[in-house]
Amino acid sequence: MVVNQQIAFQFPNEITLHIKREDLIHPFISGNKFRKLKYNLLKAKEQKKTKLLTFGGAFSNHIAAVAYAGKENDFQTIGIIRGDELESQIFENPTLQFAQECGMKFKFVSRDVYNNKSNDFFIEKLINQYGDFYLIPEGGANSLAVKGCEEIITEEDSQFSHVCCSIGTGATISGLINASYLHQKIIGFTSLKGDFLSEDIRKFAVKSNWELISDYHFGGYGKINLDLVRFINNFFERTKIPLDPIYTGKMMFGIVDLIESGFFPNGSKILAIHTGGLQGIKGMNLYLKKKNLEQIKTQ
Ligand SMILES: *Cc1c(COP(=O)(O)O)cnc(C)c1O
Repeated sequence: MVVNQQIAFQFPNEITLHIKREDLIHPFISGNKFRKLKYNLLKAKEQKKTKLLTFGGAFSNHIAAVAYAGKENDFQTIGIIRGDELESQIFENPTLQFAQECGMKFKFVSRDVYNNKSNDFFIEKLINQYGDFYLIPEGGANSLAVKGCEEIITEEDSQFSHVCCSIGTGATISGLINASYLHQKIIGFTSLKGDFLSEDIRKFAVKSNWELISDYHFGGYGKINLDLVRFINNFFERTKIPLDPIYTGKMMFGIVDLIESGFFPNGSKILAIHTGGLQGIKGMNLYLKKKNLEQIKTQ
């Protein structure tokens, strides 16, 4: 398997862009979800847990990753899924279908109930229902996840002046920040609206050489438009590198736009982390097809 294949592009002003293919590190547990689960799975084994319980939305990369990791490592898995209407739509949802085939049991809850996901009383109720389990928070975001993401950056990466990644919960960028070199700037592209993220990152990150860019969320989490789909397809045609519409596509759109608008100093050596997420393309394409819109090409 190809690990850390880096692909370079040359731009004007001696700016180079490398892409670290974290999407290739595992066939099913893609990119940063693999990194985030690594130490959590070890901890769950150490604590002799037999069940993993976690939370996620309809097309969650994290749900798919936990389901497969559970199957591969002999844990039962339970997914608390946001949206009780989804229960009758499993067969129209490639992510949930995949998770179910891996053996994940679902509990579908309304958005209101889901919002209690880190509330002790709610967790206690889940323990009463399912028995003892190892709890992985939504998106896999905890300190063990950050520790796993610190391993994305290696010594060779000290040559780069900027490291870019996409942001959901902020765990991945926290790991990148902690592992970064002081001459580097870590730039996070937010995939959702809201400015709570900086606080979350400050909880885990031990350095301050980072910046968030929130101009490329395309209207919010899971929102896309034709410009983004065309960018992803164009990028794929030219590079053969697939990007997902929720995270990496938005980041790459942002990086290219910022290079073109002069944001990066001359001679910048940019490293973009491809955090994976490609399983989400199928679900997005089903939606686009229903609406008779241009789909994301995967070959
Ligand atoms: C989950 C995910 C992210 C966001 O990672 P956080 O650690 O939650 O910030 C980014 N990219 C992809 C492809 C993801 O699946």
